[in-house]
Amino acid sequence: MNKLDSEVVAGHLVAAGYALTESSREADVVLINTCSVRQHAEDKVWSLLGTLRARKLRRPDLVLGVIGCMAQKERGAILQRMPHVDLVCGPMELDRLPELVAEVRQRHERVVAVGEGHVGRVPRAVTRRPNRVQAFVAVMRGCDNYCAYCVVPYVRGREESRPLADVVAEVEALVADGAREVTLLGQNVNSYGATLGDGTTLARLLERLDRLPGLERLRFVTSHPKDASDALFRAMAGLPRVCPYLHLPAQSGSNRVLRDMNRGYTREHYLERIARARALVPGVEVASDFIVGFPGETEAEFEETVDLVRRADFQNCFVFKYSPRAGTKAAEMADDVPWEAKQERNRRLLAVQKAVMRRRNAAMVGRTVEVLVEGTSKRDATKLTGRTRANHIVAFAGAPRLEGRTVSVEITGFTPLTLFGRMP
Ligand code: SAH
Ligand code: SF4
Repeated sequence: MNKLDSEVVAGHLVAAGYALTESSREADVVLINTCSVRQHAEDKVWSLLGTLRARKLRRPDLVLGVIGCMAQKERGAILQRMPHVDLVCGPMELDRLPELVAEVRQRHERVVAVGEGHVGRVPRAVTRRPNRVQAFVAVMRGCDNYCAYCVVPYVRGREESRPLADVVAEVEALVADGAREVTLLGQNVNSYGATLGDGTTLARLLERLDRLPGLERLRFVTSHPKDASDALFRAMAGLPRVCPYLHLPAQSGSNRVLRDMNRGYTREHYLERIARARALVPGVEVASDFIVGFPGETEAEFEETVDLVRRADFQNCFVFKYSPRAGTKAAEMADDVPWEAKQERNRRLLAVQKAVMRRRNAAMVGRTVEVLVEGTSKRDATKLTGRTRANHIVAFAGAPRLEGRTVSVEITGFTPLTLFGRMP
């Protein structure tokens, strides 16, 4: 979501006559897009802002802005602690950035924009994309779920879906610009359409996009286990462009923790949902997120998470150490799992998942898979990388002209996160 926000902001500014620089040192306007989901991300911004102070002193005409979730949440502290910051703009007002930057330059005053805004007020310029083949499209903003640990509803506002026709028009423009794969984004895409009040659902949007000529693959993230319905799984199975991949964050394997997290499901429900997805969607892969060290998490409760990860057979897992976020429900509970224990649980859970991934990837060796080529590998320019429909990352030797094409690759080796192969 943040990458897309940065892209959209760059698009708006370029449309207003700005150009992107290679390095922030050459820039007249420096905007730092921020995340506030965990403390660690915020710490990095504070430290970056500290190092930019000297530059701003040398160049008073430089416009320095903090944008995104942390701008929304920490606006008071930023204005007070960082007098060299000129502009603070929250995630719901990003489309106003060209006028806000102009305001700073004309008035030589600090500008703050942290209002509610409206979803998709300004159409997006689709040409500012880092990857021609793959594109993200936000189908909704905000979140109404209020998971106890999560700051998103406070910084990104109430859930609001974009009208189906707007989403379709944006995807059409992206496909015309060369995109072959589109990933629909929302904090809880399963509830797409709920705020439109006209019966629109994610399944209906997928059906509509599945018919678009030129689009090869459709993905969507993130799904919420409480709303992942059979209807959605059936739509995934029945629509040829929709990829068999579900990012379905479990967060914990302990029912006590899930209840206190306000997630609205149990571990049994979660396991039933992924079993159902596997029964209905051929070849579906499931990935998940986990938080370790949530308030009060005991060793035994953590072991239930380890057990869930062993049973669930995920393609991939993202593991985060719990970080209290001011204003959330969980922040009122004691953050009583020591840092060392969080770190140790984080390491242990990743090790369990790594073993799962090794076993699964070893079983892929010898198979031939269809890969949509995204470009040359960042690590090795002689190699191409891409993904299978089920979201396995594959690297293999090939000519750069294959970018954007779907090719057959025979799997010959692997690391936990990447499959290696060759074109027959
Ligand atoms: N909307 C998505 C998640 C958005 S945040 C969902 O519901 O799954 C991305 C991930 O960050 C979450 O899945 C969670 O695992 C993690 N996260 C969120 N708040 C956190 C916190 N306070 N501490 C640690 N991890 C957190
Ligand atoms: Fe946060 Fe929960 Fe909403 Fe995801 S569903 S953004 S974790 S409140």
